[in-house]
Amino acid sequence: MVIETNSPEETYQLGIDLGKAALPGHVYTLTGDLGVGKTVFTQGLAKGLDIEEPVNSPTFTIVQVYEEGRLPFYHFDVYRIGDIEEMDEIGYEDYFFGDGVCLIEWANLIEEILPEKRTEILIEKDLEKGFDYRKITIEEIN
Ligand code: ADP
Ligand code: MG
Repeated sequence: MVIETNSPEETYQLGIDLGKAALPGHVYTLTGDLGVGKTVFTQGLAKGLDIEEPVNSPTFTIVQVYEEGRLPFYHFDVYRIGDIEEMDEIGYEDYFFGDGVCLIEWANLIEEILPEKRTEILIEKDLEKGFDYRKITIEEIN
């Protein structure tokens, strides 16, 4: 499925829609260049899970846990991961195969441990279509 947005608000709203529909154990992967709107999307998804506290990229930890929403939310940013063993050290399987909702930014860096069942989201710019244009591709992987 491809969705096109033309403002941060629209991308945020798309995140809300997916967050509202998210089921326990759902894993989303999020890929796209710096500044493309991954955090905007993630903030919408958190809002859709009824999380009110501010959500930003977890800069100093691999995973940030939010427990106050409709479901637990596990926000991963693996951009700075050095070795896949760091995922073992934080016990990633408890998150990936638990009852919360996982969102993994830069998931392509940990391809070998991604669960087989997941929703992949790719956000891309196309400057020919305007500065605020984003093409968002959502694909169910089984
Ligand atoms: P990332 O987390 O991918 O590095 P951010 O979400 O932090 O990116 O930043 C995206 C930036 O792009 C924000 O400044 C936002 O206002 C802007 N922006 C412009 N148009 C859009 C759009 N259609 N969707 C999302 N963000 C947009
Ligand atoms: Mg970000």
